[in-house]
Amino acid sequence: MSILNNNNQEIWKTALGEIETKVPKSSYETWFKFPKTQGKQISKDCFLIESESVFISEYLEQRMYSVISDVLCKLLDKELELKFKVLGSPLDSEDKIKNSLQDNKGSSLNLNSNYTFENFVLGPSNELAYAASIAVSENIGKTYNPLLIYSDVGLGKTHLLHAIGNKLVQDGSQFYYLTCEEFTNEYIKSIRTNKTELFRNKYRNADALLLDDIQFLIGKEQTQEGFFHTFNSLHLSGKQIVITSDRPISSLKLLEDRITSRLSGGLVVDIQLPDYETRLDILKKKVLLKGIKIKQEILESLSNKLYHNIREMEGSLNKILALSELTGKELDIESVEELLGNADTNSYFADPEQIILKVAKYFQIDISDMKGKSREQNLVIARQIAMFILREDSQMNLTTIGLLFGGRDHTTVLHGIRKIQTDAATNQNLRRDLLAIRSSVINN
Ligand code: ADP
Ligand code: MG
Repeated sequence: MSILNNNNQEIWKTALGEIETKVPKSSYETWFKFPKTQGKQISKDCFLIESESVFISEYLEQRMYSVISDVLCKLLDKELELKFKVLGSPLDSEDKIKNSLQDNKGSSLNLNSNYTFENFVLGPSNELAYAASIAVSENIGKTYNPLLIYSDVGLGKTHLLHAIGNKLVQDGSQFYYLTCEEFTNEYIKSIRTNKTELFRNKYRNADALLLDDIQFLIGKEQTQEGFFHTFNSLHLSGKQIVITSDRPISSLKLLEDRITSRLSGGLVVDIQLPDYETRLDILKKKVLLKGIKIKQEILESLSNKLYHNIREMEGSLNKILALSELTGKELDIESVEELLGNADTNSYFADPEQIILKVAKYFQIDISDMKGKSREQNLVIARQIAMFILREDSQMNLTTIGLLFGGRDHTTVLHGIRKIQTDAATNQNLRRDLLAIRSSVINN
């Protein structure tokens, strides 16, 4: 046993030496340096990396998986799966280990686990996009490549992209999922730190790259260049690329015509506005997922209204759910009609600053403290609640939420959101706070 331990320490220290040459010095010092991290092989094909804090663990898992995995696989000359945990915390059950190992693949931590093919309702408006996404996920790199999914906002592009990702996680494929905003940030950082080579290599080893919201690249010439190279090297080696856009390619106005022509070389599918039946089915699915019972006639009335998109319809659903929970009354068609009477013309979009304001007001905290640096417990919780609601109700990405809170890192944001998610499952008071705040935002 002790021999094994010695070996383990040596292996990990050797690996660290190698990693030190591959990542920026500051990253190495912050995230890796012994004894911040310790590593050991826990089974024939599984290597456990323990670290000082949950932040480090999450960061390594999300951002450094492939770097660590490359080094260890070379060192031990075999395929290894990685597991991450905080030093001294108990080891998960065998099952959980398997699950979390799969989680490590790609950037699956960024995936919404509810956005699966099973939870995607099929209708005439989206069947082509759905079929193409299924085909691609079952046969990556071999059917339609690249696949581009196009629609107006709120119609299911991100859902389908995550569904592909979730399927790839199940199959154990290596892939990256990221928004073009994250791609841009990463690329710019690599230029700033002279690490463009590292950036390019990173994506080359993946089986697939899933990129959300390519319209974000409009006007960003330098990033388009980086994108073009990444795209080409993946495409040439038969790796799958899936991209979403909220504009038709012809009006993407990407500087590089060659990008546009590469994109049109694959399959382009669009998603249209759903018809009544599909809307009703989607509402039923969402209600089922929330584990709530609602009368059929209410859902029918809800899906009968006019919406700009599905996200807006979900907003209406959440609005009536919040109210019924707050008042404790069973929903009847009259009160729903009253509440949503003119939902045809009203659109529901939660304003981020309003959300932060309402949270601050609810807890009687100053906005400046909400956004400030203090780690006082009540401030930390208020911030985490605001982050959670921002993510849920305005669908902002982690980086943007972090920026709203004085430039906090996206891993901090992710940690906060997860904390609230977990706590809300068992803490009634927290659930009540969340409902009250969300409802005050809606009824502004
Ligand atoms: P987009 O990326 O096109 O802006 P999203 O994928 O974020 O849109 O979809 C907005 C919301 O609508 C999500 O909650 C998503 O789950 C839901 N949605 C869209 N289409 C469907 C569908 N066919 N079945 C179930 N939910 C859907
Ligand atoms: Mg989207």
